[in-house]
Amino acid sequence: MTSTQVQEYRGRFAPSPTGPLHFGSLIAALGSFLDAKHHQGAWLVRIEDLDTPRCIPGAADAILRTLEEYGLHWDESVMFQSNRNSAYEDALIQLTSKAAAYPCACTRKEISDSALTGMGIDGPVYPGTCRNGIPAGKTARAWRANTDLPGTQTQRIEFEDLVLGKQSQDLEKESGDFILKRADGLFAYQLAVVVDDASQGITHVVRGADLLASTPRQIYLQQQLGFPTLLYLHLPVAKNPAGEKLSKQTLAPAIDVSRSPLLLMEALVFLGQTPPKDLATYPNEDILNWAITNWDREAITNQLATGN
Ligand code: GLU
Repeated sequence: MTSTQVQEYRGRFAPSPTGPLHFGSLIAALGSFLDAKHHQGAWLVRIEDLDTPRCIPGAADAILRTLEEYGLHWDESVMFQSNRNSAYEDALIQLTSKAAAYPCACTRKEISDSALTGMGIDGPVYPGTCRNGIPAGKTARAWRANTDLPGTQTQRIEFEDLVLGKQSQDLEKESGDFILKRADGLFAYQLAVVVDDASQGITHVVRGADLLASTPRQIYLQQQLGFPTLLYLHLPVAKNPAGEKLSKQTLAPAIDVSRSPLLLMEALVFLGQTPPKDLATYPNEDILNWAITNWDREAITNQLATGN
C-alpha cells in the first residue's frame, strides 16, 4: 500500500511505563503527534506495561499527566497492554497453527554455547534447535517465530521508511527465530506491538530509530497474522553528552513541566523544524498549533543527513 492510498491516518505513541517521560520520549511523543495531526489524523496512546517487572508503579499516570500538561492530547481511550493477554494468546495460537511459531526448550546458556549461534542485530541469533520439534525429554520454555517458514518468501523483509528510505533485513540471518512468549510467561514486545497496532487500527508508526531494526520482525508478524503492513517513520534518537540514548538506564532526567515551552521548542529544533524564536514565549497550545501547520518530514531527513 502506498501513502497515497491511505484513506485515514491513525498514529500512536506507545511508551513503556518504566519511568517518567524524558526528552527522548518527548521526541517520540511530539513527532508522532505532529505527523498525525498535520495529516488530519487521530493520535492514540498505548501504555506498553507488558514487561511487568520493569514497570514502575505510578509511571503510567505520570506519563499521561505530562502529555496533557504539554498539550499533547490523545484521541480515544488509552490502551494498556496489561489487559491484553488473551489477544496475544490468540495471535500465538494462530501463528502456531500455521507453523509460524513454535515452542522452544533451550536455555540462554544452551543457545550461547551452541556452535551454530551467530551474532545478529540484537545479540545471539537462535540456532534453530527446536524449530522442528523439542528434543526428547525437554519441555517448552518459550515460544519463537519461525523465520524460515517453508513455502514462503519470508527471509528478506524490505520496507520504505518515510524518512530513512529503503530498508532491508535478512530476517533469518539478522534477527533469527525471535521470542514471542518468554520463559517467564510474558508475551514479547514484538508480538504485542503487532497485535495492538492492528487492533487500534494504526496506519502510521512514528517512533525512535532505536526501533528500526525491530520493524522487519513486526512486518513479518503482520504478514503471518494477515494484518495490513503499516507505514513507518523512524525519528532521530536523542543522546546524552556521552553519546548514550536517553533512557531510564542512562538516567535521563524527567522532563520538567515548568520548562515545557522551552523543551517543546528544543524538541522541535531537534526534529529539524524551524520554529520562530519568539514562539517560546507563547503557551504550549500555540507552539503545537504552529508545529502542526508547519510540520515538515523533509526537514527531519536533512537533519539526519547532516549527522546531528
Ligand atoms: N514501548 C516502546 C518503548 O517505549 C515503544 C514501542 C513502539 O513505539 O513501537 O520503547
